[in-house]
Amino acid sequence: MAGMTSCRLCGGQAAYLIEHARMMLCRDCFIKYYEKKVYNTIMKHGMLRGAGRIAVAVSGGKDSMALLAAMNRLVSEKFSGIKLIAIHINLGIEGYSERCQEIVENVCEDLGVEHVIHDLSSREGYKIPDLRSTPLGGRICGACGTVKRYLMNKLAYEIGADRLATGHNLDDVVELLFEFYLRGSVEDLVRVRPVSWSDNPKMVTKIKPLIELTERENMYYAMAQGIPLLDASCPLAEGSRMLRRKRLIRLIEREIPGFKHMLYKSHVKRILPRLEKTVPEPSLMECEKCGMPSLSNMCSYCKLVSRLAARSA
Ligand code: SF4
Ligand code: ZN
Repeated sequence: MAGMTSCRLCGGQAAYLIEHARMMLCRDCFIKYYEKKVYNTIMKHGMLRGAGRIAVAVSGGKDSMALLAAMNRLVSEKFSGIKLIAIHINLGIEGYSERCQEIVENVCEDLGVEHVIHDLSSREGYKIPDLRSTPLGGRICGACGTVKRYLMNKLAYEIGADRLATGHNLDDVVELLFEFYLRGSVEDLVRVRPVSWSDNPKMVTKIKPLIELTERENMYYAMAQGIPLLDASCPLAEGSRMLRRKRLIRLIEREIPGFKHMLYKSHVKRILPRLEKTVPEPSLMECEKCGMPSLSNMCSYCKLVSRLAARSA
């Protein structure tokens, strides 16, 4: 009996299996292991060098809530002086968004973290399901991603944050790498990185402190910290290609244990430095409509919203 179910580090009652390391840990040792990994990722990439105010993008899902709890712990223990502010966008997806916001509010309250809720419907005049009627409706998650990326950056900028932390995990990043390699999108590949530094004041530096942790590890951490897990999934995600690719990656990982970590590490250590030398940073201009940084005259967010307006006019 002993051995199989005892914690590798302290010998206590094991609760969690770290698959790629074939290691069982008890609750307390898992929490320490997890927070140390987040801390190491932050230090390795200098994510908080010179930081004073970190906006943490939270959806209500396990990854971003785990990120918030871990960052809150690390900031109070090792980076005192830094202020955390959680930002959440209510996407207006019925039967789902209410639940997400509730978790965000409860967890922020428990942790004592200040939070900003941005309600799409009342602040922007539309909800994510409305985008289904636009030409982008067939790829609703892509459109939703554009909305979230744009607004999260804008909100972080408006509250004076010098970092925007997101809960992207190893599985997310491997899924992206998979997609971009398949399509040969070199310009996208070069943007898959732990930190996206910016010296444009309206473009907040993005950091991904969970980039080396798996979806499962984030779920364990959320559970170990007593964070309520979302009991609903986004009804718009069904059959999405992203989910199908993630399933495929899980199958590969089962056949080649350590596959995800290997692919990520090869990318960051070997491929990325070379790509960064050859792929020029895109030059940003100001969006003629909203004034935020943009690759062309009008930013992708304003283009999206104008399609929505054209539809309802
Ligand atoms: Fe948005 Fe797609 Fe996520 Fe739903 S599953 S919240 S539509 S990105
Ligand atoms: Zn714009």
